[in-house]
Amino acid sequence: MPNPDLDARQLESLRSALEKRRGELELLLRSGTDASAPVTLDQQSVGRVSRIDAIQQQQMARASQQQARQTLRRVELALGRMADGDYGYCQHCGETIAYARLEAQPFASLCVDCQQNSETR
Ligand SMILES: [Zn+2]
Repeated sequence: MPNPDLDARQLESLRSALEKRRGELELLLRSGTDASAPVTLDQQSVGRVSRIDAIQQQQMARASQQQARQTLRRVELALGRMADGDYGYCQHCGETIAYARLEAQPFASLCVDCQQNSETR
């Protein structure tokens, strides 16, 4: 049963927000595939410092890709819950998640209380 606090219009707007986000993340992950390629700079021509620079930039690109992949996973899970009709519930305590919170983060899977608990624990 879908979250009774959400009306059809709210649910629809959250769904389109999730789908938009999924599209953006997929695009980001596709366009950044070369971040996993090995660093192949010629050490003699670019020098050691810029080689380290390149490695650091690549590590940053990898980290942001990893984050994008995790977010994409959460977005897909949220869309799956939506399809199953159990979207909008806290995965920890089972309480409904407020629309304001879902609007800010449509892939949220925890209510504010549980989120805070998991962060402070
Ligand atoms: Zn909760």
